[in-house]
Amino acid sequence: MSIDMKDLYQDVIVDHNRTPRNFGKIDHADVSLEGYNPLCGDRLTLYIKFDNDTITDISFDGSGCAISVASASLMTEALKGKTTEQAEKVFNDFHHLITDEEPELDIEKFGKLAALAGVRDYPSRIKCASLCWHTLNGLLEGNRSSITTE
Ligand code: ZN
Repeated sequence: MSIDMKDLYQDVIVDHNRTPRNFGKIDHADVSLEGYNPLCGDRLTLYIKFDNDTITDISFDGSGCAISVASASLMTEALKGKTTEQAEKVFNDFHHLITDEEPELDIEKFGKLAALAGVRDYPSRIKCASLCWHTLNGLLEGNRSSITTE
């Protein structure tokens, strides 16, 4: 990765940490789940509202390090309006992005999420970046009966 790209990615992370998007609890969320990363102390709760299979609203709150907050912020931006099937695909792609040794850095595909690819050089930070994603995965794999239309 060139130095310029690294700077650009750093800027995205700093921006999303300072001004997290979709931060704060959604009233009447269909599902919520807390994710905790004991290695770093990151503790974030994810809230999702569905319309059938589509994520119409998604947010998070809690506190964590810059990487965990930026990752959650970028994730909520990337997933709003997606179907659960699309969201699972983004989750899988993102998992490869931050854990593969030579990830495919397709900017078209990843958009700003590519900013987090750099964490693969810092194994201890991978859990920070993936915390909210694993929380999402838990929600998507969870018992659907916990989502009520009431
Ligand atoms: Zn962390």
